[in-house]
Amino acid sequence: MDKIWGQACAELEQSVGPNNYNHWIKPLRLTAVDDGAARFVSPTRFISDWVNRHFAKDIMAVLSRNGLAVERLRFDVGSTAASPAAPAAGASPAGEVATTRAPRADLGAPLDPRYTFGNFVVGKPNELAHAAARRVAEGGPVGFNPLFLYGGVGLGKTHLMHAIAHDYQARHPSAQVLYLSAEQFMYRFVQALRESSIMDFKSMFRNVNMLMVDDVQFIAGKDSTQEEFFHTFNALVDQGKQIVISADRAPAEIKGLEERIKSRLSCGLIVDLHPTTYELRLGILQSKTEVFRAQQPDLEIGAGVLEFLAHRITTNVRVLEGALQRLFAHASLLRREITLEVAQECLADILRTNDRKINIDDIQRKVAEHYNIRLADMMGPKRARNVARPRQIAMYLSKQLTSRSLPEIGRRFGGRDHTTIMHGVRKIEELLVEDSSMVEDIAVLKRMLEA
Ligand code: ADP
Ligand code: MG
Repeated sequence: MDKIWGQACAELEQSVGPNNYNHWIKPLRLTAVDDGAARFVSPTRFISDWVNRHFAKDIMAVLSRNGLAVERLRFDVGSTAASPAAPAAGASPAGEVATTRAPRADLGAPLDPRYTFGNFVVGKPNELAHAAARRVAEGGPVGFNPLFLYGGVGLGKTHLMHAIAHDYQARHPSAQVLYLSAEQFMYRFVQALRESSIMDFKSMFRNVNMLMVDDVQFIAGKDSTQEEFFHTFNALVDQGKQIVISADRAPAEIKGLEERIKSRLSCGLIVDLHPTTYELRLGILQSKTEVFRAQQPDLEIGAGVLEFLAHRITTNVRVLEGALQRLFAHASLLRREITLEVAQECLADILRTNDRKINIDDIQRKVAEHYNIRLADMMGPKRARNVARPRQIAMYLSKQLTSRSLPEIGRRFGGRDHTTIMHGVRKIEELLVEDSSMVEDIAVLKRMLEA
């Protein structure tokens, strides 16, 4: 039996690939063939379930080539080191093995009680993400699996994820909701490897009802963590469990992330949080001010202060919040009304760094959005006019609005040569002379970038 299995293993390693083989098939031991079934001992229930679901066909084909034609596989769970003639001592029939239920606190990160739907201000830039988050939080057959939220720093991804978790947990008190950052996922994974508790790690993750992984771009380039994430992801999706992922950019744009992961991440619903608008910023400031005022009713805010902040602090909501917090601290210490002058003085440093510095990233993003092409096409090799022209416009704006040199710009456009950038810039300059719609486009883009 061992000999046949040894031969089969060599072939299986070829057909399923070394990773799958090492992970799933190598831990098995063939113990007997009876009643048309090949009997294996597997170290855990999880492995046998997985193998049965994913590799049964491969295994039966290989066994049959080696003279053991069987119709199905059977698994006993127990020590695979025992005698090959019979199921190992202590083995119990598959199906009777209790799976461990993970204590959430062991794995996940705590949820911020302030990050609720109630505290989330909805506006044009985030309404779609908010609606999708609400829907997922309701549970039930939504079909957005995974929900992939992406957007720049401080636009509310983490807030929305926590809100989903709070809301879903309130509706499904017995459900296991696991929220953690991709960094924590990696840390737990490495720890499990070190402590040889990888099987526990796997089964704990696979026992949750909803898995939320924040800032998934972190695992790009970290190969074994990606691999593990991929398996966890697939196992949960196969079981119809909800997954929510966030990242700072769309799956296709995350460098160093395996293609198969990108494509799996793209299977559900992808929604982005757009940069905030003036209206949304003002809305957020008003809502946070109400919270402060509830605690300190005598605080006075001068006319135009919130508008001024919404206008001047455009980077992200976290900075906006920080500014407001500082203003209130200032006001309550000095017992003074917050006038526009007080605000300007107290926030001088924040306001200075928010003075608009346009960078190539912004330009590429805005231009890609404007012409409805993918951001990746800015760097990519496509030469079709509908992609090449916007790319040249972005090159032109980069030259005009930043202090970057041509070779530097070339590097940011997928490593192009500086002569290519020069050619692109000239082309747009020519078009500006003869094509009034180009003049208009450039003006609109500049206005958006300088806003
Ligand atoms: P991200 O995870 O996208 O970097 P966060 O979710 O951490 O951003 O948001 C940063 C801060 O801004 C948090 O304190 C969050 O509560 C707040 N915030 C962001 N968007 C909103 C919003 N629409 N309404 C209220 N607060 C928001
Ligand atoms: Mg975040």
